Amino acid sequence: MKKELDRIDPGSLVRPRIRNASAYHVDQCPCEVVLDANESPYPPPAKMRERLWVVMAGTAFNRYPDMETSLLRNAIASKEGVDAAEILPGNGSDEIVQSLVIALCEPGSKILTPSPTFSMYRAIAGFHGVDTIEAPLNEDWTLDTETMVRLAGGQPPSIVFLASPNNPTGVRYDLADVESIADTCGGVVVVDEAYVDFSTEPVGAMFRDRPNVVILKTLSKIGLAALRLGYMMADRRLIEQVNKVRLPFNINSVTQAVVVEALKYWEEFTPFFREIIRERDRVFRELESISGVDPFPSEANFILMRTGTDPALVFDSLIRKSVRVRWFKGAARVGDCFRVTIGSPTENDKFLTALRQSL
Ligand code: PMP
Repeated sequence: MKKELDRIDPGSLVRPRIRNASAYHVDQCPCEVVLDANESPYPPPAKMRERLWVVMAGTAFNRYPDMETSLLRNAIASKEGVDAAEILPGNGSDEIVQSLVIALCEPGSKILTPSPTFSMYRAIAGFHGVDTIEAPLNEDWTLDTETMVRLAGGQPPSIVFLASPNNPTGVRYDLADVESIADTCGGVVVVDEAYVDFSTEPVGAMFRDRPNVVILKTLSKIGLAALRLGYMMADRRLIEQVNKVRLPFNINSVTQAVVVEALKYWEEFTPFFREIIRERDRVFRELESISGVDPFPSEANFILMRTGTDPALVFDSLIRKSVRVRWFKGAARVGDCFRVTIGSPTENDKFLTALRQSL
């Protein structure tokens, strides 16, 4: 028996659904200008960084973190103007997506998303035996609510994921469309506001009027990606249930303490958002002025564009010039598109120069 086991490829013991999936991959080849991951080009405000040593010195490294994340939830709740019982933090908002799928979806059930959108919704659902129904976005990347409602018919989806502003298109969905989907599609509607700080019209505490709505947020796009902190806001009855599938101690003590500190300096973060929005609008105008380049208007910290040239050639040329953007190679409808994160003015200029030279 032992001998036979020795010959078995342990990878073959893994469920077929996982064996057939690919690991999440981003090409992290070293480049001088890195504009492919929607990170902030700015480190957190100096005032907050000065406090970090004190925070670290006060951390009990020999103890498990606060399992209830009490101080953290209080700090997030007061920033958001909601109750701490309406907050559930995750190790990045990815983890919350996973918790929602585990808590809400039976194997064989379905989730509904517009398409194209953030790939992790489909990937996580797939790992749990849950199918994804995709409703194609309109040509201008706005929501086709009629198609969404139609596709939600029959067995209603367990979850509808709406990233607004959407990744990779940058389009924020109309509030009326989001409300109509929440009212008609059935299931829980997750409004993923990862990019809301670069946008207008956040949906706010929509779950107060519509208890089937969840708001998802992250600190990854505003200068704290290294901490891995996302959170959901929802009716406390839903939070209580989803909390059951959260792994104990999922938010480490350093992240808890640093985020509490960071939120005290929230006002110091906001000039960075304004700078990124200004730069996004400048980069958009510059892209529009390049012959053959077709950028899509964005309310996020990135711009999606077509270049009218073989994307493989443009991508390779940018890499040779040490500029990394995201190419959606092989993806439906955006396979010929690049997504460029808005960096510092210098990084953006380097990107624009490299792009002009690559076309
Ligand atoms: N939602 C959207 C729409 C995203 O684009 C991303 C990051 N790419 C996430 C969630 C995940 O963010 P986090 O770093 O909090 O896991």
